Amino acid sequence: MKHVTWTLVCVACSASYPGDELRHRCECGGVLDVIHDFDAATAPIGLAAFDRRLGSREREDRSGVWRYRELVLPVAASDILCRGEGNTGLYYSPRVAEFTGVGDLCLKHEGENPTGSFKDRGMTVGVTMARLHRMDRVACASTGNTSASMASYAALAGMTAIVFIPEGKIAYGKLCQALAYGALTLQIPGDFDVSMKLVEEVCAEEGVYLLNSVNPFRIEGQKAIGFELLQDMKWEVPDWIVVPGGNLGNGSAIIKGLRELRDLELIDRLPRLAVIQAEGANPLYTAYTEGHDLTPMDDPDTLATAIKIGNPVSWRKSLRAIRETDGIVDQVSDEEILEAKAVVDAAGVGAEPASCATVAGIRSLVEKGIMDANSRVAAVLTGHLLKDPDIVVGYHTRKIEAMACGRANAPIQVEATASSVAAAIRKARPLGG
Ligand SMILES: *Cc1c(COP(=O)(O)O)cnc(C)c1O
Ligand SMILES: [Zn+2]
Repeated sequence: MKHVTWTLVCVACSASYPGDELRHRCECGGVLDVIHDFDAATAPIGLAAFDRRLGSREREDRSGVWRYRELVLPVAASDILCRGEGNTGLYYSPRVAEFTGVGDLCLKHEGENPTGSFKDRGMTVGVTMARLHRMDRVACASTGNTSASMASYAALAGMTAIVFIPEGKIAYGKLCQALAYGALTLQIPGDFDVSMKLVEEVCAEEGVYLLNSVNPFRIEGQKAIGFELLQDMKWEVPDWIVVPGGNLGNGSAIIKGLRELRDLELIDRLPRLAVIQAEGANPLYTAYTEGHDLTPMDDPDTLATAIKIGNPVSWRKSLRAIRETDGIVDQVSDEEILEAKAVVDAAGVGAEPASCATVAGIRSLVEKGIMDANSRVAAVLTGHLLKDPDIVVGYHTRKIEAMACGRANAPIQVEATASSVAAAIRKARPLGG
């Protein structure tokens, strides 16, 4: 590998390794950070340059990840494997804002990435690195979206994708993608944490490149959510950025990127980070509120399968990001998640359940007086509405166990006559009613 200007540094013990060494963890077991040497980067870094690239026709300028390549991974354009990630919508919905209690709320919809989740931002960098290491097999354990993304990028790169999926626990839209993109899909008994442990073991033994978010290059790509969000906001820093918390890579990534922007004096402050967990899968919430290291929890349980994780890999990075930004961790129930989802969906924006934990979390933080109703808040919607159709249909036909489904929009059975249809239309509720 040529011109390696970064090193790998352990988050737990600060040991450091060469940037082109093939490893995912420190000898001590800690996760690694990519630490850049921005002085050594050849191209100039600046907000104006990032803005100029918005008008470019070059593939690497048009990607919402590689547009910021000097900050993400300074490799040659010809080495980049991308499919135009990012460039996701920023929505201002009065209905969602009113639901949360925050007036100035925007929704960054990462479900608009090529495979329908933010995972594509990390995956383009991860697969680019796998290719630089001349690996021809890649693997991940996944609650669904990582495998969908990896399967697509690996297929484009001509690599074999091996997916470890907790049996019967992933949403259909995601399983569809892994199968369709041609991944070798292994259904593993047990929950995500079992699959995660197994994939690390097998990758080390078989020489397969690991593409879970323990891979620090995935985190580098995910930083671009924050870069693009700020660019969308004309480089003004919001007061809060809110993300759902599962394996805890995403919030950590966003803050790492913004910290680097601040250290380069391209922005003058950091937003506060709020990480929202599901009540049934809340190990970070427990660690944060009780003020100790994370203890893995057994049998995590939530309908938001993307964040159903009891032993998150990036908890140390996440706690660091929360402390450093005067952030917060909150938790919400599945019922609150699905109510928020009904609001986000009916606003015409739409997102999968885990994504809507952010909106439920904002409402909760405002209610508790932790988040000021006058603050400027950016919520990250992590995945697409169509990822989990079962939940949507279940909710709107009121078939979700022990839930009122108060905002259900059930289909109405009518006769095939104009009068029957007309009667149904006249009875319809007004928009938002
Ligand atoms: C992966 C994922 C998450 C969790 O992100 P982490 O970085 O693991 O905390 C949340 N929502 C969706 C839709 C995801 O795919
Ligand atoms: Zn270490």
